Amino acid sequence: MMKVEEKLYQNRYRVDADRPHIKIRDPKICNERCQTQACVYCCPAGCWSFDDQRIGLITDGCLECGTCRVVCDEFANVDWNYPRAGFGILFKFG
Ligand code: SF4
Repeated sequence: MMKVEEKLYQNRYRVDADRPHIKIRDPKICNERCQTQACVYCCPAGCWSFDDQRIGLITDGCLECGTCRVVCDEFANVDWNYPRAGFGILFKFG
């Protein structure tokens, strides 16, 4: 049986350079006020990071599941949109 990681590897992603479809409204909230960084732990694509008390977001490979927006319920600090037409994830599943 195929592992989830192997299935994810079958996907393709078309990057919309310099136009990320998800943005952090105020990184200071993530860095200084948020206690959980739930986005880092819940994102199935590993787009979020939190190193040296600094939030990081790279949307390449985003699965467009919307989880990061939902789990940021306390601060609503995720500005979430779908990618422009023709960009983003292409699901293939092998
Ligand atoms: Fe990760 Fe889903 Fe948010 Fe994309 S929409 S960054 S895959 S949690």
